[in-house]
Amino acid sequence: MPTINDRRPKMRIGYGFDSHEFFSGVPLKIGGVMLPHDKGLGGHSDGDVLLHAITDALLGAIAGPDIGALFPPSDPNWKGADSVIFLGEALKRVRSAGYRVANMDASLILAAPRIGPHAEAIRGRVADLLQVDADCIGVKAKTPEGLGTSNTAIAHAVVLLESEPAQAKPLKKNLSNAKAAGRRTTRSKRGR
Ligand SMILES: [Zn+2]
Repeated sequence: MPTINDRRPKMRIGYGFDSHEFFSGVPLKIGGVMLPHDKGLGGHSDGDVLLHAITDALLGAIAGPDIGALFPPSDPNWKGADSVIFLGEALKRVRSAGYRVANMDASLILAAPRIGPHAEAIRGRVADLLQVDADCIGVKAKTPEGLGTSNTAIAHAVVLLESEPAQAKPLKKNLSNAKAAGRRTTRSKRGR
């Protein structure tokens, strides 16, 4: 008979969506990268539409609570918050569920600024945050043809998680071995 562990999927997919409106005089941050532009994204936090979509994709993949439930806009703690915090919490939950990120793909839909010149920087930053190689991060940008959303930035993200074979246990073991080795060294020094 299969145990609960056997039934745990080896891979899980997650999807996230977000949108924010542009406002003058607000810094523009997308994918954790500051972009030069005369408008930025409004919202309770720093308005990083891409990191919010990725955060929801990570949380969705493990069937967790969504970003709004974990970081309610009504909570003054998150006013102007760096969205890296949200992503970090989602990633922590992914790890404790026993998974790691395999790859992530996103589409950004916005009229301006052009993302092309910044795409590599965004991919690099998101790769660092998700702790994967940049070639596992896709960031595509489109203009909102026919959507009538020229003052809005929209992000869609999908992530694939892969099962991380019980990494926490060997790490602890190594740590206690190291501690034991440390004790032995200390003792032998004392002995001398
Ligand atoms: Zn958002």
